[in-house]
Amino acid sequence: MSHDRHITNEKQTVAKMVYIYCHAHHGTKGKTLCNDCKALLEYVFFKTDNCVFGTNKPACQACPVHCYSKANKEKIKEVMRFAGPRMLFKHPVDTLRHFINLHKTKRKFKNKSFQSVVTKIKKSY
Ligand SMILES: [Zn+2]
Repeated sequence: MSHDRHITNEKQTVAKMVYIYCHAHHGTKGKTLCNDCKALLEYVFFKTDNCVFGTNKPACQACPVHCYSKANKEKIKEVMRFAGPRMLFKHPVDTLRHFINLHKTKRKFKNKSFQSVVTKIKKSY
């Protein structure tokens, strides 16, 4: 099995956020996205699937390895800023899961042994 449930959940949450953002900003509806947002979501899916931490993938926001390109990082940040508060009402379970994951990630990276793993990964980049 190449996909962990955690990865699938994370991808679904990001997808929901991109949909909320695109519908509000680019006039798309239902299951459609504009070309830009579609490309952004494909990029995020690709990065998620190829995360150096594999199925231990941390929450991207708190991850010390910056694997996104600058332009795409800015775009996804804008999507999160807009869709984040709206997610809480539309998809409270996803939002809750996301914050739990974020909290776990922050704790994980405070751990010394994990820090050395991160340093190694950064050097290999
Ligand atoms: Zn769009």
